Amino acid sequence: MSDLETFRQEIRSWLEENCPHSLRNPASQEEQVWGGRNIEFPNDDAKLWFERCVEKGYCVPDWPAEYGGAGFDAEQTAIFKEEMNRIKARAPQVNLGIWMVGPVILEFGTEEQKLEHLPKIARGEIRWCQGYSEPGAGSDLAGLQTRAEDKGDHFIVNGSKIWTSYADQADYIYCLVRTDPDAPKRDGITFLLFDMASEGVEAKPIELITGERHFCQTFFDNVEVPKKAVLGEINKGWTVAKRVLEFERNMMSDLGSTVASTLEPRGAAQRYLAQNENGELKDSVIREAIARHEVYKKSFDVTQQRMVDEFTHGAGNMNTAMIFKYCGTEEEKRKYELLLKIMGEKALGWNDNDHFADDELSVTLDWMGAKTHTIAGGTSEIQLNIIAKRVLGLPGVMS
Ligand SMILES: Cc1cc2nc3c(=O)[nH]c(=O)nc-3n(C[C@H](O)[C@H](O)[C@H](O)COP(=O)(O)OP(=O)(O)OC[C@H]3O[C@@H](n4cnc5c(N)ncnc54)[C@H](O)[C@@H]3O)c2cc1C
Repeated sequence: MSDLETFRQEIRSWLEENCPHSLRNPASQEEQVWGGRNIEFPNDDAKLWFERCVEKGYCVPDWPAEYGGAGFDAEQTAIFKEEMNRIKARAPQVNLGIWMVGPVILEFGTEEQKLEHLPKIARGEIRWCQGYSEPGAGSDLAGLQTRAEDKGDHFIVNGSKIWTSYADQADYIYCLVRTDPDAPKRDGITFLLFDMASEGVEAKPIELITGERHFCQTFFDNVEVPKKAVLGEINKGWTVAKRVLEFERNMMSDLGSTVASTLEPRGAAQRYLAQNENGELKDSVIREAIARHEVYKKSFDVTQQRMVDEFTHGAGNMNTAMIFKYCGTEEEKRKYELLLKIMGEKALGWNDNDHFADDELSVTLDWMGAKTHTIAGGTSEIQLNIIAKRVLGLPGVMS
């Protein structure tokens, strides 16, 4: 048996022994473990699974062991993920530290920054939020105005960020600030990492139409941030920021597969729509739409797997993240629109448990959530602009 086959067998047996059976299916939003100083677990199994994975470095299997990972190389990591997927094991923790800021600290951080931040992310001790968007800078992110004035050994930060997801629950923020107001706009930006408990930081939740409050507007009033909090170089934060967005878009392209969807179009059609004696749907338009969705989903999954394989063998190209983000989130949106057509009035439930089943209520909320995924991390229009410029090489479009 080759070394990799032996490795696969070891991972398979470890997962078999250690992953609780109740966690071998996709998690809903509420069932996910977000980590942080105030970490919460939805149940005892989730806590046990998290602790077992932390001990082995399996929350970040490809990070070096000295930073809290398992130290797996690319092929071992691919096998680990395949074995996790094989039994549909849930991620032990999910958060921006693991998906986005951790990988860029690994790439751009000093040794001191790596040792300070990465083990805490790997152990789920610190929850991060992302301070990019501002009231006047979303798609045109480089137009951001939050200022950081150089005071020798520290900066003084003033301004505000908006749509900062879960800023009120986060322990740390990675934040884009303007350090040189006279430079061309992308050249005067710096990437800072600082504690949300710093004096002068305030996160005010924004209530949404759904009643949820996961967005905040985050204010900075004379916040003192030490110079050692700069990731990368002063005024070169745009490079780091773009790298974070690549990781974000990569992660978002996969949301349709990793977040639990209680109803899928085919199952919903069998439950709500008339069928003939052979069990075929009578509505041929819906039948065709379901077939189109399933074929699209299958081709998306295999193309994504090909990308993973390319990365495993060192031939990956991060531009593909934009394509997958666009295609994955747009298809997720179309899937929910199809579910609404299939379910009719049963997809109109809000919080009425007397007349709607739990999975019917969650479809309504997930349909709205799917629309937001085509905006977060850069809107679909912006992804298309970037694909046109960077992938297709078309002239005259913004990046
Ligand atoms: C669920 C969710 C979570 C988010 N979390 C965070 C977070 O944690 N941290 C954070 O910093 N931000 C976060 N955001 C904000 C997100 O990054 C912005 O909403 C997004 O970048 C768009 O910016 P905007 O809302 O200002 O829209 P605008 O930039 O004002 O865009 C409005 C419309 O104009 C279109 N448009 C703009 N410019 C162009 C162009 N050049 N070509 C074609 N069309 C264009 C856009 O596509 C969009 O349809 C989140 C957003 C969502 C929905």
